[in-house]
Formats: sequence, C-alpha cells, structure tokens
Amino acid sequence: MTTFVVLMGAPGAGKGTQAKMLEKALELPQVATGDLFRANLKNQTALGKLAKSYMDKGELVPDEVTVAMVRDRLSQPDCKNGAIMDGFPRTLAQAQALDELLTEFDAQIAIVPHVVVAIDVLVERLFKRAEIEGRTDDNEETIRNRMRVFQAETAPLLHYYHERGLVVEIDGDRPIEAVQADLLQAIKATADL
Ligand code: AMP
Repeated sequence: MTTFVVLMGAPGAGKGTQAKMLEKALELPQVATGDLFRANLKNQTALGKLAKSYMDKGELVPDEVTVAMVRDRLSQPDCKNGAIMDGFPRTLAQAQALDELLTEFDAQIAIVPHVVVAIDVLVERLFKRAEIEGRTDDNEETIRNRMRVFQAETAPLLHYYHERGLVVEIDGDRPIEAVQADLLQAIKATADL
C-alpha cells in the first residue's frame, strides 16, 4: 500500500509547516515543489534560473518543467511508500499529470486535505513571513499575485478532487498543533496507516 497525500491550501495556509511535521509523523517524504525550485536556485542550475523569473513575479513555473521535476523526485526510492505533496499540483494539467504518474507507479492519491484559512489572515501571515524569512517572493506585489494565481489556477483543483470524494477540510486558523492533530487523524482514517 502506498500513501500519497496531496496537501492543499492557499499560500500562507501553513502547508509547509504541516507537511514537515507529517513527514516525521508518517515517515513519508515531503515533496515540496517550491523547496525543490529554491534548491535549484541556490545551486544555480538551469532549472533554478528559469524558475526564478516566474517565482519572483508570483507566477507559476510552466507545467512541463514542473511535472518533469516531480516525476524525477517521485521516482526516487524514498517515495516508494508514498509522499506528502506540498505545493503540487497547482493546475489542472499538473493534477492530471500526477494521476498518470501515480498510475505508472501502481499507486493513487489517498486523501486531499485542504487547510482552510480566511484570505485576510493569509495576507497578514505572508507579510510577517516576509519579514522573518526574507523570501524574495514575499513582497507585497508578489504576495497579491500569488493569491490571484491561487484563486484562478489552483482553487479549481479542489472541485476536481471533491468530485472524487478525496477532499477533507481542515480549519487552518488554529494553533499549529491542533491543525496537525486533525490532519493526522484524517490521513490515518483514510490511508489505513
Ligand atoms: P511555494 O514555496 O509553494 O509557495 O512556491 C513558491 C513559488 O514556486 C511559486 O510562487 C511558484 O512560482 C513556484 N512553484 C511552486 N510549486 C509550483 C507548481 N506546482 N507549479 C508551478 N510553480 C510552482
């Protein structure tokens, strides 16, 4: 049995923090496309240079490039039992590509937890994170654009997964530990871990 979890939520919803905790609790790797792009950027790879031009504007890196990177990552042995997908898929084409990829691996998505946080809370959180972490894509204009991109490109995915009965909504406007406890409970109930 494999357990592929697709963690959904708007920028600032706390996906990254939660995914890191789930990684430890479930012993499944976190596959975060934003982190993979940032690692490429740091190592100054061609992929990193390409990604930067999109990331700095809060735009999505093209699907083809992103899907190839995820295919590569999911092919690694540590993903054989599953993974916590964080920040991928973000478009319908990516979601379809993930389904195809998992079919190839004889696997499927176990659950799509959606960490829900009101938009004004999200924007405030992102501004705070900008101060603390100094991410170059955490300036005001980029933050607003990332929200727009989320609404336009990524939010429709919830519908795609809803239709398959995979979505579980988790109230993300609570202490980190409370959100984590609910996530773990939901995943364990569905994935039979
Ligand atoms: P994140 O760390 O998930 O907020 O991602 C930071 C940035 O990386 C995004 O604003 C995008 O520019 C890029 N990115 C991350 N994941 C994806 C994805 N699945 N598809 C396209 N671009 C992505």
